[in-house]
Amino acid sequence: MKTIDDFNFKDKKVLIRVDFNVPQDENLNVTDSTRILASKPTIEKVLNDGGAVILMTHLGRPKDGFEDKFSLTHIAPAVSKALNAPVTVANAIVGEDALKKSAELKPGQILMLENLRFNKEELAGDEELARRMSKLGDFYINDAFGTAHRNHVSTSVLAKYFPNAKCFGYLLAGELIAIDKILKSNRHPVTAILGGAKVSSKITIIENILPKIDNLIIGGGMTYTFIKAKGGKVGNSLVEEDKLDVALKVMEECKNHRVGLYLPVDNVVADSFSNDAKTHITPVDEIPDGWMGLDVGPRTDEIFSEVILQSKTILWNGPVGVFEMPNFAKGTIKLGEAIAEATKNGAFSLVGGGDSAAFVKQYGFTDKVSYVSTGGGAMLESLEGKELPGVKAMLA
Ligand code: AMP
Repeated sequence: MKTIDDFNFKDKKVLIRVDFNVPQDENLNVTDSTRILASKPTIEKVLNDGGAVILMTHLGRPKDGFEDKFSLTHIAPAVSKALNAPVTVANAIVGEDALKKSAELKPGQILMLENLRFNKEELAGDEELARRMSKLGDFYINDAFGTAHRNHVSTSVLAKYFPNAKCFGYLLAGELIAIDKILKSNRHPVTAILGGAKVSSKITIIENILPKIDNLIIGGGMTYTFIKAKGGKVGNSLVEEDKLDVALKVMEECKNHRVGLYLPVDNVVADSFSNDAKTHITPVDEIPDGWMGLDVGPRTDEIFSEVILQSKTILWNGPVGVFEMPNFAKGTIKLGEAIAEATKNGAFSLVGGGDSAAFVKQYGFTDKVSYVSTGGGAMLESLEGKELPGVKAMLA
């Protein structure tokens, strides 16, 4: 399959699906331009070749039609600043203004269409909308990994109208390469660390990755469903009673696939779900009634670190404690430190899905791991082995 570097965009008008769903303050100013900067290399490639760029993105969740607070006019100054170039905004994704502005667009210029989700047909994957949008440009690039698991007009249906003039942008291609480095790794041992709240939201990932990994580290709230299934005392810890059999099956499957399963052995227990709670350390399977496990303990930190330092390929999804409360963030920080050290020693580490990217950013690990995924849901679905509509459309 051709990559973006196989094309020259001279004199082309290139529709680029980006994910500029950026955070804003109460005055609608952009507070973090990371997502804009993430697609800058793709946009610059087109401009430097002598092409023109037509950006397409959604912002927030508008209900129906135009709503000023979701208008891209509010983020245009930040987009312009991040890209170091003027950006014009069309008043809709189709219609007279979009047609006129795209027709007048010159090489080196950037046009941004209004919020994709002002048209409900976008979410419905409407063919007619795709046909109309396709008239605006002569090449289609998808660089939005965060929405690649959606079957929307801009993320997948549009691709059909550019049979020989479409490709992934650098960001999306980079995400797919990073996932492949985990799921198709021949650099062993391969270790997956799964934390977070519930077994139920991670079980499909576990089933998909078990044949591909050597070690599975489990932490976070999920721990207690496993410990209870094994007959341990978990006090008031988070347990999914209806998933005890699932936990037993995972333990059995680990044996079948010869995967080393590492569950916490000790933990920090609290007398309430609060940063100010009383705490002490107990074995993970001897939690007194009225207490709940909210972080892994020091012995567990050591065991997890040892496994991680011996690994050559590392996947990390989900915190091993309630890291939002500083008193229960220590285990997740220790884990991040071990992954950073393994990475320094040559391992490939991918962090992604849900809360993990936020944690990595908050605690300054972004540059110490190999790759931080930008797409929560899309990353999870990839790890579950699902084919993403945005990827499938490009390959068709
Ligand atoms: P997820 O979105 O499934 O990755 O879950 C992330 C959430 O799991 C975070 O908000 C953590 O606070 C939470 N979490 C981690 N450890 C625990 C625990 N021991 N008990 C309850 N929640 C936890």
